[in-house]
Amino acid sequence: MELLKRRIEEEGRVLSEHVLSVNTFLNHGVDPELIAAMGREFASRFRELGVTRVLTIESSGIAIAYATAMELGVPFVYARRRKALMNEGEYFSERVPSFTKGIVTDIVIAKELLKPDDRVLFIDDFIANGDAARGLIRIVERSGAKLVGAGIAIEKAFQAGGAFLRETGLPVLSLARIASLSGGVVRFAEDEA
Ligand code: 5GP
Repeated sequence: MELLKRRIEEEGRVLSEHVLSVNTFLNHGVDPELIAAMGREFASRFRELGVTRVLTIESSGIAIAYATAMELGVPFVYARRRKALMNEGEYFSERVPSFTKGIVTDIVIAKELLKPDDRVLFIDDFIANGDAARGLIRIVERSGAKLVGAGIAIEKAFQAGGAFLRETGLPVLSLARIASLSGGVVRFAEDEA
């Protein structure tokens, strides 16, 4: 997606060999026009799959999931990080390492928001090692729902998560694929898919 790649080039800040900050338009400040355009891209790619629910994880996936769900005319649900007050039996829960925070968190989704007849589209802002995706896939499996596709805004193709997602056989669309952040420079992968 050229629009997203251009914004990354203009405003992205390479924090290390592994971490890109896009705080001006995606992760802190949010550009609604750009997010809406992402939603249209994902919706047009996955529209034929009979999606009944879009799924993401708090907090940075929420805006993109909203835009995608709006285009598809379906609800979305975001996994939350478990708080002490949440009642055990009412939630699906999985433990996932957090890439940016360097800690492990429990993510939860209320059982009433993910049903066995749901066809689920997973959306997220970044994929790195794929831990968040793995946790959400396990929750979808336990709910009996079917995962039908995955849409990622920014795939860091030099980390394992994107390959893991494709190996599951799911249709995957990444709007920008980054081959490397070495030397403080963003290099895009040629085969944006
Ligand atoms: P994973 O679980 O695939 O290792 O990491 C995915 C999650 O970590 C994403 O939901 C995203 O919030 C965060 N993340 C991973 N890499 C980056 C990055 O380079 N920049 C930012 N801003 N977030 C990232």
